[in-house]
Amino acid sequence: MRSLQSDIEQRGARIFELVDKHPERFFSKAGFYQRLMALSMHDERFKTQLFQFVAVLPSLHRSSEIIQHLEEYFSDGNDGFHPLVSLGVRVARLVPWMSAAALRWNVSETARQFIAGRNPHDVIATLRKRRAQKIGFTVDVLGEAVVSEAEADEYAARYADLLDKLARETKNWTDPLGKSAELFPVLNLSVKISALYSQMSPAAPADAITHLCSKLRPLLRRARELGAFINFDMESYALKNTTLELFKTTLTEAEFKDWPHAGIVIQAYLRDSEHDLRDLIEWGRARGTRFAVRLVKGAYWDYETTKSGQNGSNPPVFLQKPESDANFEELTRVLFENEAIVTAAFGSHNVRSIAHAQAVADELRVDRSRFEFQLLYGMAGPIKRALVEMGYRVREYCPIGELLPGMAYLVRRLLENTSNEGFLRAKFAENVPAKELLRDPKELIKPAVARIAGSNQKNGASLRAAAGDIFRNAPLVSFIYKDSQDKMQSALREVRKRFGEKHSLYIGGEKVWTDHLTPSVNPTEPTEIVGYGTDAGVDEAERAVKAARAAFEKWRWTPFEERAQLLERAADIMERRRYELSAVEVFEVGKPWSEADADIREAIDFCRFYAQQMRRLGRPKLTQQVPGEESYHHYWPRGVAFVIAPWNFPIAILCGMASAGVVTGNAVIMKPSEQSIICGAMLMQVFEEAGVPPGVLNFLSGHGSVVGAHLVDHKDVDLVAFTGSREVGLKIWESAGITRPGQRELKRVICEMGGKNAMIVDTDADLDETIMYSIYSAFGFQGQKCSALSRLILLEENYDRVMERLIPAAASLRIGNPEQPGIMVGPVIDEAAYRRILEYIEIGKKEATLAFQAKEVPPHGYFIPPTIFTDVKPHMRIAREEIFGPVLSVMKVRDLDEALEVANGTDYALTGGFFSRSPDNIERVKARLEAGNVYINRSCTGAIVGRHPFGGFKMSGSGTKAGGEDYLLHFLVPRVVTENTSRHGFAPEQSPEYRDEFLWPKPRR
Ligand SMILES: Cc1cc2nc3c(=O)[nH]c(=O)nc-3n(C[C@H](O)[C@H](O)[C@H](O)COP(=O)(O)OP(=O)(O)OC[C@H]3O[C@@H](n4cnc5c(N)ncnc54)[C@H](O)[C@@H]3O)c2cc1C
Repeated sequence: MRSLQSDIEQRGARIFELVDKHPERFFSKAGFYQRLMALSMHDERFKTQLFQFVAVLPSLHRSSEIIQHLEEYFSDGNDGFHPLVSLGVRVARLVPWMSAAALRWNVSETARQFIAGRNPHDVIATLRKRRAQKIGFTVDVLGEAVVSEAEADEYAARYADLLDKLARETKNWTDPLGKSAELFPVLNLSVKISALYSQMSPAAPADAITHLCSKLRPLLRRARELGAFINFDMESYALKNTTLELFKTTLTEAEFKDWPHAGIVIQAYLRDSEHDLRDLIEWGRARGTRFAVRLVKGAYWDYETTKSGQNGSNPPVFLQKPESDANFEELTRVLFENEAIVTAAFGSHNVRSIAHAQAVADELRVDRSRFEFQLLYGMAGPIKRALVEMGYRVREYCPIGELLPGMAYLVRRLLENTSNEGFLRAKFAENVPAKELLRDPKELIKPAVARIAGSNQKNGASLRAAAGDIFRNAPLVSFIYKDSQDKMQSALREVRKRFGEKHSLYIGGEKVWTDHLTPSVNPTEPTEIVGYGTDAGVDEAERAVKAARAAFEKWRWTPFEERAQLLERAADIMERRRYELSAVEVFEVGKPWSEADADIREAIDFCRFYAQQMRRLGRPKLTQQVPGEESYHHYWPRGVAFVIAPWNFPIAILCGMASAGVVTGNAVIMKPSEQSIICGAMLMQVFEEAGVPPGVLNFLSGHGSVVGAHLVDHKDVDLVAFTGSREVGLKIWESAGITRPGQRELKRVICEMGGKNAMIVDTDADLDETIMYSIYSAFGFQGQKCSALSRLILLEENYDRVMERLIPAAASLRIGNPEQPGIMVGPVIDEAAYRRILEYIEIGKKEATLAFQAKEVPPHGYFIPPTIFTDVKPHMRIAREEIFGPVLSVMKVRDLDEALEVANGTDYALTGGFFSRSPDNIERVKARLEAGNVYINRSCTGAIVGRHPFGGFKMSGSGTKAGGEDYLLHFLVPRVVTENTSRHGFAPEQSPEYRDEFLWPKPRR
């Protein structure tokens, strides 16, 4: 008996033989475009520029714009161009209109290579040609990201229309193989669920499924009437579980339970794909009706690895290409072994994968008419022909749509074709020998080269960090997993049971109570009291200062390593209590799940990052290497630090300021906001459990006007760290500047205040990204972030295009109780905020034009409907004053100069953003936008500790950067100790670069 490997080799060799009869045009050396592709394969930087240029081209409207972008993209920074394009660029300068037209034509031609037609009418001509070649089809509608329900409805209608039109056109078409035709309807449509619902949240599969089922039912019903087949395509990992669940849910409904013509995709590059496939098969058996699976490797490998790298989590995909190949083979076998219930389709261009499927089918006696090979339109033409010649069923995946919405797809294909790891490049561009291409992938897997999350050089490492000094952010909780969803639900139930608990002050290591308790209510349902905080008065404030002062005298001499370890223990405790702490935030401040989780992640990061930074700063450092003298620069803590935090990041900001104070050797009194006392009390519990010594961290809840004011003015308070409103911040700044009788130190104030953040949208911006990120930045957590977007500045040329999509996107937002997963807009913090924001909305109605206001918000609780004003001018109050709610002002400007002038024309400079694909304009905005944190082509909120040190200037703050390398310096005073080490001219040869701390008595080792 022949071994499987030799069988695969023979089949592979046969395919190659047939393939070589018809060489692949795409990889030929002829033609301008082919040459560019060849160049891309040998120059990664050029490839990136080229693909980025291709992606922006369809959104450029004028010839001059096209030529300008061409120059910007291909300028290599040394005032030269890549030799191949330099001629083109020179010609373009002389005859821009002609060159622009030629470029557009070239890119459309390329797109046409991968996109089967612009509309159903167009595509039918292609399908007819393929029919003559005995190749079947599945049709997919290309699309932009769906940002609103109006767009999702449009897609549903396009799918329905396509189905009807193709049904009419292909009415009399028969199966090309003429055998097992009942398994393979001629008319086959591939759908993407992301096109059908705009508010998909991985945390809320039930919500997505309810919406999607109602969109899909009519489509499935119609497909069934027409005898068509519907395939559920698979997209990014975040949507995978929802797609699988949706597939099972709809097809178990009575109406579709016995319908065999639906299929789903399994991506073999996913580590959990075998589990998913077996689960589907089990489901199929229970359902009792055949279904189909298209096995692919997966089209989002780069995306998944980048996303995971950014989040510091383990990628869901295999990291070695042969692992994906080997898993594809494993799953091929699983599919054939279960042929009785599942019809297999293999979506691959890899001859080894294809030959393996053929060989296993024969081994398991599955007739070749009972499965099919699927390949993409415009790719691997010779392989399709070869398979048809060998008597296999072949179906082509035919995307249809316009060039602009098709860009993301086109770029994915270009990447796939030029990928270093890809089969097509190896075979057709690099002529790797057949024997090599047909090797068993299992043999090619290298042992344990697993890339651990965050260790990727692209992330985690600060550029200036010494080796081994790499900071890794804690990953966000992935609510994709049911386990995480369940844990969050259960934490919410548990925290709810503790509603009404009373929390004491914590002074000098003791719990302290007073006669006054303040209730903290749930802003979603203000009749619910989440808990009570104890009100401190002046007496308790005095007691806290004494306790802190006493503790400071010991704590300041505690080795920094011990202090750093305290923070790390606190981080570990927060990690352990993560869901519980998030749940408290959901109830006390109305944070949606993912926002609450991000807050806890930030608190954890602050602790670990500041611990690491303290280790860097803690050791006295030699200033210069000179003979006979040692001069060490080092730091002392300032004394007693008073921390005043806001409610909007109720654990993270409080923790950030307090932990910075503690780790630097100060003694800290922390005062949470009156609206988030329970969150503050939770943080105190964490530090208590971590073993903070008595008096080093004191918890003083109470009224800002009483204890806050008293402590800011206190002679024994050496430092005030404040984050909050401009009004209070400026008062603190002023008051702390007055030296009181008996005061020892000049008071240091760290003052972080608000923003009136602007984002500018360039004429060439990617509108999918612009809308998605603008909506999130303006309305996420109800706009109650100091970093939130409040002024969207649109260039007049782009104005209508953006507004056309922005308003429906805002109208689609999920507003409601943040206890429910997937809610984007919850209540604002309290009645005062509620009234203030409504007043601003009234002001806005008088000053500008109310372009949008959400119609439905829950009747109870402090819900403000997301609101958009247009015709806003820079002098208006809604354009100048911080509103701190879900209100967005849209401003129209002539050009980028005016946009920058408007953006910079406020008192604030906190965050700011720019959407553009013009390298020159991006550079200009990077250089000129007045903001402490400038974000390009992304949201302007969501700073990550260590990665995006956060804080602004002008009236946004005193220029400090929380989560940055220099933050701890504000809590320290620098000191230099110099010793003459020479004795009678004799001196040690060298002084060590660092020495241990100046501690006395020396700590015991
Ligand atoms: C008809 C059809 C339908 C498709 N539908 C979908 C779909 O619904 N969803 C979807 O995601 N994809 C889909 N694809 C795309 C498909 O996933 C890619 O075309 C395919 O992965 C390319 O694989 P290959 O076997 O042709 O090529 P090969 O060159 O053998 O494999 C390339 C693939 O290997 C994987 N890979 C690359 N580098 C690594 C690495 N370092 N470690 C691990 N794995 C790596 C990636 O998945 C990459 O795409 C479909 C493809 C076809 C032909």
